[in-house]
Amino acid sequence: MEESYEMLIIGAGPAGLTAGLYGSRSNLKTVIIEKGLVGGELLNTEAIEDYTGFEHIKGVELAELMERHARKFGVEINTYEEVKSVRRADGMFEVKTVNELSGEENLYRAITVIATAGGTPSKLGVVGEDEFAGRGVSYCAVCDGAFFNGQVITVVGGGDAAVEEANYLTRFGSRVYVVHRRDEFRAQKILQDQLSQNPKAEMIWNSAVEEIKGNGEVDRVVLRDMKTDEVREHPTQGVFIFIGFKPNTYFLDDHPAHDEGGHLITNERMETSVPGLFAAGDIRSQMVRQITNAVGDATVAALAAEKYITHLKHVQSESGA
Ligand SMILES: Cc1cc2nc3c(=O)[nH]c(=O)nc-3n(C[C@H](O)[C@H](O)[C@H](O)COP(=O)(O)OP(=O)(O)OC[C@H]3O[C@@H](n4cnc5c(N)ncnc54)[C@H](O)[C@@H]3O)c2cc1C
Repeated sequence: MEESYEMLIIGAGPAGLTAGLYGSRSNLKTVIIEKGLVGGELLNTEAIEDYTGFEHIKGVELAELMERHARKFGVEINTYEEVKSVRRADGMFEVKTVNELSGEENLYRAITVIATAGGTPSKLGVVGEDEFAGRGVSYCAVCDGAFFNGQVITVVGGGDAAVEEANYLTRFGSRVYVVHRRDEFRAQKILQDQLSQNPKAEMIWNSAVEEIKGNGEVDRVVLRDMKTDEVREHPTQGVFIFIGFKPNTYFLDDHPAHDEGGHLITNERMETSVPGLFAAGDIRSQMVRQITNAVGDATVAALAAEKYITHLKHVQSESGA
């Protein structure tokens, strides 16, 4: 199968669905390609309390509403289809995909591509991590910190994200422990200083979380001392894991500019360094990764892409191409 589109969007999370809404509402032939189900990280989010206009909504419900809204304007959404490669050829993009269910390979051509493939928080890979995800285990302090008001929180990690988010979580937790495998952090000195001066924070050095336990919800973690090999249980209600975040850019053959974490660098129009390739949401290099700014980025990206297409068509008609 080979099809051509004006706008091709990779990923059907909040950013992709918003870009799809704006693209199809601008009467552009628009397709969203999603390797799994529609919703992105919303599907892994039990409750959302910080998306304006929704005081409390389940992630799955918000995903359904966003999908319905985007489809209303005619966007095509192809699920269970993974984008394997994107490359620019003769002023268009060639996007190769594989259907996850049938194994069928497809080729799409598109004038513009908006990368909204998000990223994946690195996991500890310990027993209990998946079982208690959303029930005590979290990868996002801004999203879930407020659910742990007055409770004991344990942060895992030693880089900038872990130390910064541990500081932030002391607004909520009665006590915030930071478990790190070594006896010093990799985080910037200023962040470390803030944490060490914070009376609610306490470091647990040279230790690793081996298991997360509880009864319906997390109530303790098993810690191993990396020096003495001693194993003990540490009571806690929240476990926040910040050991890395990998943006999903593996399919981009043209290697657009990215930051040291691999996130795509864009200008204020959400244009990457590759002409016609835009990026929005968690995949983009930026300070905050929330639903609100993912949909904001995507709005800009889709409208800027529409202007790019209009300009390109104008130039082509002027030159008689
Ligand atoms: C556990 C958790 C809880 C959170 N809670 C909140 C909250 O309460 N409030 C809040 O504002 N934010 C929250 N966030 C953050 C929020 O979910 C993200 O900022 C937001 O989902 C980003 O949207 P996105 O569209 O950029 O990426 P995503 O939601 O990650 O969507 C990306 C999509 O791209 C697809 N994809 C990836 N690679 C490919 C490929 N090669 N081909 C096709 N498709 C591909 C993925 O399957 C996915 O569906 C939370 C995040 C997590 C992990």
